[in-house]
Amino acid sequence: MDTNSRRYYVTEKGKKLITVIPGDGIGPECVESALRIFEAVKAPVEWEIRHAGASIFKKGIESGVPQDTIESIRKTRVVLKGPLETPVGYGEKSANVTLRKLFETYANVRPVREFPNVKTPYSGRGVDLVVVRENVEDLYAAIEHMQTTSVAQALKIITRKGCEKIVRFAFELARAEGRKKVHCATKSNILKFTEGMLKRVFEEVSKEYPDIEANHIIIDNCAHQLVKKPEQFEVIVTTNMNGDIISDLTSALVGGLGFAPSANIGDEVAIFEAVHGSAPKYAGKNVINPTAVILSAVMMLRYLDEFEIADTIENALLCTLEQGKLTGDVVGYDKGIKTTEYTDAIISNLGNKPKSSRVREYKQIKIPKIQYRKPDVKSRKVIGVDIFVETDMKPEELGALIESLILESPFKLKMISNRGTKVYPPTGAMPDVVDHYRCRFIKKDNVNEITDQHIFSLIQTVASKLKWMHVEKLQEFDGAIAFSKAQGED
Ligand code: NAP
Repeated sequence: MDTNSRRYYVTEKGKKLITVIPGDGIGPECVESALRIFEAVKAPVEWEIRHAGASIFKKGIESGVPQDTIESIRKTRVVLKGPLETPVGYGEKSANVTLRKLFETYANVRPVREFPNVKTPYSGRGVDLVVVRENVEDLYAAIEHMQTTSVAQALKIITRKGCEKIVRFAFELARAEGRKKVHCATKSNILKFTEGMLKRVFEEVSKEYPDIEANHIIIDNCAHQLVKKPEQFEVIVTTNMNGDIISDLTSALVGGLGFAPSANIGDEVAIFEAVHGSAPKYAGKNVINPTAVILSAVMMLRYLDEFEIADTIENALLCTLEQGKLTGDVVGYDKGIKTTEYTDAIISNLGNKPKSSRVREYKQIKIPKIQYRKPDVKSRKVIGVDIFVETDMKPEELGALIESLILESPFKLKMISNRGTKVYPPTGAMPDVVDHYRCRFIKKDNVNEITDQHIFSLIQTVASKLKWMHVEKLQEFDGAIAFSKAQGED
């Protein structure tokens, strides 16, 4: 075991031990292909086969990840994994997301590069970039509640610590791979507190990496630029959902999901897997493209400090593509070679160097150790509260009712909004209101600060006439408001 970093486990025979999860659908075929190549190249790895996903859900284990798989990963710290299906009707949660969250693999690394003979509209432009996606926060925390019978809500959780970890990781990755530019892609123009946090942290942290060019880009323009001129990007760091979407887009730039590997990296554990899923219609047919899993295995070998063997496999794969040996996803399933033939071709190319493309030089990434400190906020006070209520009343009717209820309270009704747009006092806006209103109460001028007791009595007052389902405190940090305003609110 590398006791300093605890990155991986070394057996008595000096082999690096990994956990292998074959996965569902096409997973076992892809993983088998990678393991055959490991054997042929004599990679100094041993593996423990463990399971997760559909077969486990069927046994009634709701998480899709059984204890012996968890124990194996706790020991080996490194996983090579096939895709896992999220079956409808067995488990509620995705076993993939469970694994990522269980081991806090916060950095999802998704590289794409142009491949020889894999023709796309971008061929010849040298696309070679990495999406670094935050992997455990954002909407993927999947904290959802029905607010009324017809209004759903999901909480978008973004933390300063999470932003700092992923931003530092992206800069360290750029350094380790000799890349010169990092773009941070956010929707900070609309979501100033959540997406804005990633942008602010990026701007702070980038000052510590003067050797790397740092640019911020709005995520929608990033998607547009990726289609228009993808070669301008080297590393893109972004929040979970943005990263999920643009990394599928970037895989399409170089030939599709069959060519898109990934790594999920945390402080303790790293999980390597293709971006693609279990593609059930191709399962067991020996026709799919195993490149994404093979390249994920190559990323894993580099993580295990096996740079030379990783380069040998990547070179052999590039040679195979140069020779025009292509699977059905590239040339059509009537013309493509079998998965096993493609693997054999890679094995026979071990030791060969490609003519037209090269393997990048890699150094070990320095996984950032964050000395996290809470921001220095000197004064903090509660100045109001948002209470969300369910009603079919018209805004004016609701506003008049609430005004009449709070005459004696320390609050005044600042406004009412419906799906984020102010509807009371009337502004002339014409939103299509639903039964879910946010009532914003702010302290009266003669009240210094709002206490929990004030809020409890206000909820009681509101609840005497209306159904409420959600409350948010309105705070000020160092005199600046720490909440967003409604559309149309002053
Ligand atoms: P998918 O399995 O990625 O397949 C979508 C399409 O991508 C396939 O139909 C096929 O395209 C192409 N494709 C994917 N991998 C390929 C390969 N190795 N070789 C050739 N073509 C490949 O996505 P999905 O159908 O949306 O999801 C199926 C299941 O996988 C779901 O249960 C989902 O939850 C799960 N999933 C798991 C992971 C993971 O484990 N990390 C990720 C994503 C999805 P054509 O149809 O055009 O031939």
